[in-house]
Amino acid sequence: MMNRNASIQNLQSNTFDLLVIGGGITGAGIALDAATRGLSVALVEARDFGSGTSSRSTKLIHGGLRYLKQFDFKLVNEVGRERAIVHRLAPHLVHPDKMLLPLVSNGNYGYWLTSIGLTVYDFLAGVKGDDRRKMLSREETLRAEPLLRSSDLEGGGLYAEYRTDDARLVMAVMKTAASMGATVANYVKVHRLIESKGRVAGAEVRDAESGNTFSIRAKTVVNAAGPWVDHLRKMAGEPLHKHLRLTKGVHLVVSRERLPIQQTVYFDNRDKRMIFAVPRGEITYLGTTDTEYSGELHEPMATADDVAYILNAVNAMFPSVDLMARDVESSWAGLRPLIHEEGKSASEVSRRDELFESSSGLISIAGGKLTGYRKMAERVVDRVVERLQLKAIPCKTQSIQLADGHFSSYAEVTELIALLENNHPAVFSGRSTARYLVENYGNSAVSIAHSALEIRDGINGLLAAEIDHATSQEMCCTALDFWERRTGRLNFDAACVAQHLEFSMGLLASRLGWSSERRTDEVTRVKSALDRARGVYDWKA
Ligand code: FAD
Repeated sequence: MMNRNASIQNLQSNTFDLLVIGGGITGAGIALDAATRGLSVALVEARDFGSGTSSRSTKLIHGGLRYLKQFDFKLVNEVGRERAIVHRLAPHLVHPDKMLLPLVSNGNYGYWLTSIGLTVYDFLAGVKGDDRRKMLSREETLRAEPLLRSSDLEGGGLYAEYRTDDARLVMAVMKTAASMGATVANYVKVHRLIESKGRVAGAEVRDAESGNTFSIRAKTVVNAAGPWVDHLRKMAGEPLHKHLRLTKGVHLVVSRERLPIQQTVYFDNRDKRMIFAVPRGEITYLGTTDTEYSGELHEPMATADDVAYILNAVNAMFPSVDLMARDVESSWAGLRPLIHEEGKSASEVSRRDELFESSSGLISIAGGKLTGYRKMAERVVDRVVERLQLKAIPCKTQSIQLADGHFSSYAEVTELIALLENNHPAVFSGRSTARYLVENYGNSAVSIAHSALEIRDGINGLLAAEIDHATSQEMCCTALDFWERRTGRLNFDAACVAQHLEFSMGLLASRLGWSSERRTDEVTRVKSALDRARGVYDWKA
């Protein structure tokens, strides 16, 4: 299903109902929705699936507490219900996470307002049972999170959100789309739109792996290119009355030992912006910033100012911790593709999505969130169906389990983690390995674990099994695809990447048939991505 050579052949030989440009969460969601409604679908991604904004978010499927502050009840209701649906479709990948909102004097949220607000939030989002919000006294809040600043702490609110891995979510949706018949390919970039009788009728693309250029024919074309949406709108000759406004958001990774928090904490910074501290396995990640951005779009980076901003905010809320730039083990930066609104600051601009249509028929989707990807896809595909003048076919994705997500509940996910840990403690219990395997690979964790045990070479055995899976099942084409998006280790275990890079290169080169030049080039790319993530070019220079 995820066979790249077969996809490249298919792309050249068919005329599709729909061509989707962009393989982030938006494009993947649209491809899945359209394929399940019986449309013939092609999707091309210029680089790797999820390599744009969709691997650089805060990785939360959240109900949008901030929308409640803006009195956008409809949106809170929609995204709140969405997160419960996505949790059901992929419980290993989207799981509940308690979030602590410490309440400080003169903060964004007062005690009583928060108590009422979180109750409304739970009601709108359909939160039930033990997951419902709990208000904590000052003492209870400090017991829950002893490192918090106590001087102006008034209490806390504990409420339910959902955590995910954005790049893995894209992969799960993409694999499901492919299993439903969509033809998808990474490293295929659109460089020109094809028109017929004044209407967009496909695209001319270049396959970066072979260097070949070819055409893809389609009756409708959807532009889901995230921060690049306006580039494609310009290609279609569309006047950009409303256009994108990009803001950069940075996250920093420190070891869990340096910031040993018990749960995700969502707290007030002194400038009234809210900051997240999210524990995950052996690390804690911190974010985010929200600054205007006009640089190059592929590799935005954290700067010394971004690092200072986040560390100052965290040190102010957890004063005994005293994090320094040298504690930052890795980082990532993403671009929010927001829709420009006159006179509004970056953090005030709405995160809603919007559809644009050029006179030549290109449908572009901009804005939105990871959380709302399924609903966004539904709206786009409704429009495509209308354009194709087909009989209305209802959206079905609310009941289509995502690839590797065939668990009846989250309890089954935790049972599988326990099973791996208990049966093979020497291999899977250290460094949260069993949890990592199950949350990353869902049902496929079992076959990966078996292969790793057969190879019997500790971490090398595990890496070999993962490389086998990534190259055979998940269209992994480069070393960065593997280390950054298939496994997430570049962000969450940078030391492992540095230590096992050479070993992985031998296996990747033989699986993917690389020349020695390509292998050297791949090593250089991973090393420079590691340097970027660790701030070697900037704050640690
Ligand atoms: P992208 O993921 O950028 O995908 C677009 C793709 O199009 C890219 O991969 C690109 O390579 C491809 N492309 C571009 N040009 C071409 C071309 N010519 N040919 C082929 N392909 C092309 N949302 C949440 O719900 N929860 C969060 O916690 C959250 N946190 C965030 C934190 C930050 C810092 C940021 C920046 C965003 C966050 N978001 C969050 C928002 C969310 O991440 C984005 O809305 C979402 O990832 C956008 O996905 P996309 O598919 O539209 O864009």
